[in-house]
Amino acid sequence: MKKVVKFGGSSLASADQFRKVGKIIREDESRRYVVPSAPGKRFSSDTKVTDMLYQCYEAAAGEKAYKPMLEKIQARYDEIIQGLGLNLSLKDEFDKISEMFTNKAGSEYAASRGEYLNGIVMANYLGFEFVDAATVIFFNEDGSLNGEKTNEMLRERLKATEYAVIPGFYGALEDGTVKTFSRGGSDITGSLVAKAITADLYENWTDVPGFLVADPRIINNPEVIETITYRELRELSYMGASVLHEDAIFPVRKEGIPINIRNTNAPEQKGTMIVESTCRSPKFTITGIAGKKGFASINIDKAMMNSEIGFGRKVLGVFEDNGISFEHMPSGIDTMTIFVHQAEFVDKEQQVIAGIHRAVQPDVVELESDLALVAVVGRGMRATRGTAGRIFSALAHARVNVKMIDQGSSELNIIVGVKNADFETAIRAIYDIFVTAQL
Ligand code: ADP
Ligand code: ASP
Ligand code: MG
Repeated sequence: MKKVVKFGGSSLASADQFRKVGKIIREDESRRYVVPSAPGKRFSSDTKVTDMLYQCYEAAAGEKAYKPMLEKIQARYDEIIQGLGLNLSLKDEFDKISEMFTNKAGSEYAASRGEYLNGIVMANYLGFEFVDAATVIFFNEDGSLNGEKTNEMLRERLKATEYAVIPGFYGALEDGTVKTFSRGGSDITGSLVAKAITADLYENWTDVPGFLVADPRIINNPEVIETITYRELRELSYMGASVLHEDAIFPVRKEGIPINIRNTNAPEQKGTMIVESTCRSPKFTITGIAGKKGFASINIDKAMMNSEIGFGRKVLGVFEDNGISFEHMPSGIDTMTIFVHQAEFVDKEQQVIAGIHRAVQPDVVELESDLALVAVVGRGMRATRGTAGRIFSALAHARVNVKMIDQGSSELNIIVGVKNADFETAIRAIYDIFVTAQL
């Protein structure tokens, strides 16, 4: 058995957290490849080391005093090193980083040092070999991942080591320039390592008991999802359930390697299994609920629009010409509504309205802002009649006005549009009817 274990920032925020992680790894000798994040928050008002590094580099790039900030970052690592009683000094590393900052090495280089340094500490603590991610994870010039080269280099390099620490979040361009994934990207590193070594399991350790039916910041103590498919997870992550980076499933998905989300603070719990496909029926009709605020809708009215050939294409062409992607497009006989991200749309709204008038001569174009989308996701919904009805009656009871409904043809999800102000109420109402009422 070979397992890859990735630990998130809060799992590695202090010496105490490191000790929990060390115990987890030593308990199971198949936990051979460790992917650490940078130290995260120790308490809720704390700052993640990654954020400190971005700020520090911004000062350096703006030729402002950055050393005090860098010293604070060094203090975070020293606290961990001392707390663990390690015989390790990062002084030379910090001298090098300081020099690179003066030479304007870039904010991605800066941010990557969080994981790089934590990898060095972790390798020293565990007695595992340290493998710098810049030597095994490669990006193309256009910033996309070079998946083939990465897979080959990782496989070759890790063949030679039975136990290794590979820091998350970054890799390098062909010329050695350090580059990072988007925020939360250590999850992707873990997935790439799992694929390269054909792991039996990719364990992703974090600060919650697993993938939860709903966001714990909205629902108090939500139920844990025992098993979820990659497809369901993708829908939920895309809609804001940010437990796992949304790109992290692709490398392992093709290899059929399951992901197990686990809680560093409660390792005795089984967490959530993320799998390609399963016969296990979900505990509830729905698997999960997620959502996002900050959408705007453009409602277009024109009598008989649905018999006008090319109407939809012309309308969407206006969005394309303005570089705006659309999220949903429910339509009726004489109406069509387009949901877009408000932040992407506001600066261009008048161009878009003018463009629509020119393209299709509508009767009316109306805008509505401050909308939220809520996605109810579940493989079990396909086999159950009345799911949509239950969602809408729950929302009606909670006095939430539904602005839009969209059901994917896969019947895996139902998406409803509501006002931003109703967002939390809507999620609570749906959670209560499908989960609380079934317990
Ligand atoms: P890590 O630092 O370990 O990578 P993240 O902060 O990236 O952890 O992801 C875990 C966080 O995701 C949780 O602390 C929780 O606040 C948030 N979260 C949002 N939606 C969900 C959900 N449906 N299930 C579990 N956690 C969720
Ligand atoms: N440390 C990085 C971040 O905060 C990457 C990660 O944690 O996955 O985004
Ligand atoms: Mg994360």
